[in-house]
Amino acid sequence: MFDKILIANRGEIALRVIRACREMGIASVAVHSTADTDAMHVRMADESVCIGPPPSSESYLSIPAIVAACEITGAQAIHPGYGFLSENANFVQVLEDHGITFIGPSAEHIRIMGDKITAKETAKSLGIPVVPGSAGGVHDVDEAKRTAAEIGYPVIIKATAGGGGRGMKVAETEAELEIAFRTARSEAKAAFGNDEVYMEKYLQKPRHIEIQVFGDGKGRAVHLGERDCSLQRRHQKVLEEAPGPCITPEQRTRIGKICADAMAKLGYSGAGTIEFLFEDGEFYFIEMNTRLQVEHPVTEAIFGVDLVREQIRVAAGEAMEFRQEDLKIRGAAIEVRINAERLPNFSPCPGRITQYHAPGGLGVRVDSALYDGYKIPPYYDSLIGKLIVHGRDRQEALARLSRALSELIVDGVDTTVPLFTALLQEPDILKGDYSIHWLEKWLKKTY
Ligand code: ADP
Repeated sequence: MFDKILIANRGEIALRVIRACREMGIASVAVHSTADTDAMHVRMADESVCIGPPPSSESYLSIPAIVAACEITGAQAIHPGYGFLSENANFVQVLEDHGITFIGPSAEHIRIMGDKITAKETAKSLGIPVVPGSAGGVHDVDEAKRTAAEIGYPVIIKATAGGGGRGMKVAETEAELEIAFRTARSEAKAAFGNDEVYMEKYLQKPRHIEIQVFGDGKGRAVHLGERDCSLQRRHQKVLEEAPGPCITPEQRTRIGKICADAMAKLGYSGAGTIEFLFEDGEFYFIEMNTRLQVEHPVTEAIFGVDLVREQIRVAAGEAMEFRQEDLKIRGAAIEVRINAERLPNFSPCPGRITQYHAPGGLGVRVDSALYDGYKIPPYYDSLIGKLIVHGRDRQEALARLSRALSELIVDGVDTTVPLFTALLQEPDILKGDYSIHWLEKWLKKTY
């Protein structure tokens, strides 16, 4: 096992990894920009290294600075968290060249899944059902029109290098296609430096259902059921739950087995998430994330496992602790993302926290890097915490969420907390009856 791990991240996810390290008796190294000198992850880690100025490109994304921090501190492995360098195949390659272990899958698997066209082709060849669409990239308007006519309107045009819900455009009719195609391409170029796009059938009212997978890199893999992440704004998740309220045990077993078998065949190592749209009882692959996800705690809650600990164990070459037959679901869990944002536009709202009080009690988990007097810097993601509740069933989890939200105090900045309090009054949310469009419609109607 490693003696020391460096965490190439910040905020709540850095704390999450430091906590796993501490429980495993592993020393932790935090890295931080000059904007994060007072951040909680720096205070909580055993050691810390400043790796550059506030912009991520010069600190949390600086491969030379992070490798140097590893060499200075003698850390043997790096946990990337999510975002930043977590899905950067080049980073993994550089670490390999320096004899540092990356806690995550191989560079090859990251590369395959990072290119959405290759990912889809790979998924298909592994027996995973995919959304009907173009065979590969679509390069001009005429080809786009022909493809759309084949798959049928409405269609969605997506960036091959896409991520974070950006670079997607819907065309309802052929009249809208040309503009949608050109806009998607120029947005993709601006956001990802790559203007290649592909097309899919635009599903009308699907749910976003994702399967948590885990592999040992030696041909053994399991699944840990699904998470329903259908509550989204601009293709960004705001609330996630497990198990999915609309998924039957048979559907879970069927798609779970397909995913686990595919990962076993691939020789996948560590945690991964296979994302699907789910409509009329059918699953359609959209992408795979080759890292730990923000919403992983809902899976941990219902299965009683520690995914980060398992990631570290497998990266160190130890056997996977999970066996499929031991993985049993207990109850239901819900996570809400607490962002420092001002409603109704969700505009970022950095600033000083004048008062912070975290809820507690049975079935409540708070993953957050906040503390009294902390100043949220304006340079990074607006996620400042996650509230996760677990109950014997969905109804108990909902009641617990409502109770925990009423205990939570975050003063000094605007947050998304009022949004969740309001959502808990909605019959559709209480019933679990919502598609990926529900939240946007509700926001329009409500604000
Ligand atoms: P990203 O990597 O940018 O997050 P995804 O491919 O994971 O992009 O898609 C993000 C979200 O966009 C999905 O959860 C869904 O809400 C919407 N979406 C993507 N593809 C489709 C589709 N074919 N039909 C309808 N909605 C889609």
